[in-house]
Amino acid sequence: MEDRKAIVKCKYKKCNCNNEIPLNENTINNIVRYGNAYYHSDCFINWCNEGINHFKANQKYKDALSSIEVYKEDAYKHLINRIENYDLYKFIMDRYDVKTLDTYVYVKLNRIFNGTLEGIREGGIPKEHFFDMWKRKTHQLDKIHQQNIVKGKNMTTTQTIMYDISVLINKYDSYLKWLEREKIIQAEANYNNASTKLLTREIKNRRENNIVEKDDISTLVNDIFDD
Ligand SMILES: [Zn+2]
Repeated sequence: MEDRKAIVKCKYKKCNCNNEIPLNENTINNIVRYGNAYYHSDCFINWCNEGINHFKANQKYKDALSSIEVYKEDAYKHLINRIENYDLYKFIMDRYDVKTLDTYVYVKLNRIFNGTLEGIREGGIPKEHFFDMWKRKTHQLDKIHQQNIVKGKNMTTTQTIMYDISVLINKYDSYLKWLEREKIIQAEANYNNASTKLLTREIKNRRENNIVEKDDISTLVNDIFDD
């Protein structure tokens, strides 16, 4: 079934496209929301220019054209949650306190995920890993950022995001090692948890059958773990 959430219609009737705008990180920055309708930004500019040229009372079209950036931002806000990887993008926008993301950021992230970024490990880095890593490393990234400021390296927000992405790429090997250790710890925790349940059940059984006295638990523990 077609995903209607991932498409908006362009209201401009004369455009050469099929009037549908697929929502993705390449199109999201070039959609205008005006009067509750969406337009390709080029179509919107055409629509404004036609109004300006054809009508005497054309102030409305002049105003619309001069505020195009506002309408683009409005479209972005309304549509961003419909595009793929929204959770990650939302996290980045919140963390760096920006309303929109630069196209460079989308492009770089996608190249990391699909493995086409120069120098990236074969097969790329899975989005889930990269997202998780970013959340776990926020404190460390902030520290690096502070150090950079002290050194006089001032960056724009987009530059900071791109810088942090590079830092995260470099940390991926150690993240994988950490993940491996976590899996072992988790497996041990599950094993201990299962053992505890087994022990509790065993104590209950033995008590019910009067096999052990109440204070004889340590002997029982040894019994079970020695198996
Ligand atoms: Zn259009």
